[in-house]
Amino acid sequence: MKSIRRQKGPWTHRALVYLFTSLFGLLAFWLLGFVVRDIATWPGPDYRQFEEKLQDPALLKESESLQTSIDDASRAISLRKERQQVLRDSTSNSEKTMNQLLELQKLTLQKGVTPSAEEVQALAESQKLFLQNQSRYQEINDEIAKLSEQLSDLQNRQRAVRKSLDSTRPTIQQQYQQAQSSHQWKLAALKLAVLVPLLALAVWLLLKKRGSLYAPLMYGFGLAVAAKVVLVMHEHFPRRYFKYVLIVVALLLVARVLAYLLRTLAHPKIELLLKQYREAYERFLCPVCGYPIRRGPLTHLFWTRGSIKKLNIPAQAQTAAEEPYVCPVCSTRLFEACSACRGIRHSLLPTCTHCGDEREVQAPTGAPVSATKA
Ligand SMILES: [Zn+2]
Ligand SMILES: [Zn+2]
Repeated sequence: MKSIRRQKGPWTHRALVYLFTSLFGLLAFWLLGFVVRDIATWPGPDYRQFEEKLQDPALLKESESLQTSIDDASRAISLRKERQQVLRDSTSNSEKTMNQLLELQKLTLQKGVTPSAEEVQALAESQKLFLQNQSRYQEINDEIAKLSEQLSDLQNRQRAVRKSLDSTRPTIQQQYQQAQSSHQWKLAALKLAVLVPLLALAVWLLLKKRGSLYAPLMYGFGLAVAAKVVLVMHEHFPRRYFKYVLIVVALLLVARVLAYLLRTLAHPKIELLLKQYREAYERFLCPVCGYPIRRGPLTHLFWTRGSIKKLNIPAQAQTAAEEPYVCPVCSTRLFEACSACRGIRHSLLPTCTHCGDEREVQAPTGAPVSATKA
């Protein structure tokens, strides 16, 4: 049974409890996340395996070797094109040199001087290089033409092979999809096999030990597990089913909260009850029916919850009438003689103002609730 004397502690302490409860929940959520992620690394079906199983191996092999040849041919062509680029540079260089030499010779001849043997040789050499480059360029061009022809031939064959491979592809795709979805279900089952027992444990703890000192730990843990379960279901269950699961859980939760609210309304918890009693006594109203407690100087007055402030009741009014009092409307005993000191005390509050004697506060529904020392 809960004690009304349960210490709430300073607000900093309470804030820290909330903070660390959230932190605990967050860490538990992370831990579960690691576990779930590790389960998800379980390897699924391999598309290549399905291809190898269902395709004609000869066709697959041919397609592969054709692809290799195609790659080789493309590489050879681009290599030759690069070489041509180099040759083009070299040719334009030698052409420039040749023209300069020719210009020089023309000038020397105009002056009536015969060009030296070196000059003639240089001109001849640059001419030779130029021609050589030209013919090499042409050779490479021929090679490229031949390779391009080969390449287009290879590509045609590859297209044909691919086409016949494609005809079996839908079957492979279908089987692969099936394997994939059954793998996903297995993963979901495995994840839930880890999470659901934890959820059950959390629910059990919350139901059995809700009042315990360590309840915040259980709330943190329970929320973390529940959040993870929802996420896993969201990930794996088709949306069509997931929304039903979600709405049913939400319904249960709402029903539970509603039931709790209705129950506390019918059987108020002792803290709520005491709060209600205290506020009623402060306003000189019967805590049970709300009729004014008209004692001493207040005997001939009338007030309600709203108008009490306007009365400006003097402070001594409360202590003025030291005699027992019973509500004339609902017959609830409101002030009575203390069994310890015989002074007049509040009947519905736990402690006597004269001697400090404590006793149980009686809930109106009957069940006595302990208000003794914690
Ligand atoms: Zn009353
Ligand atoms: Zn007393």
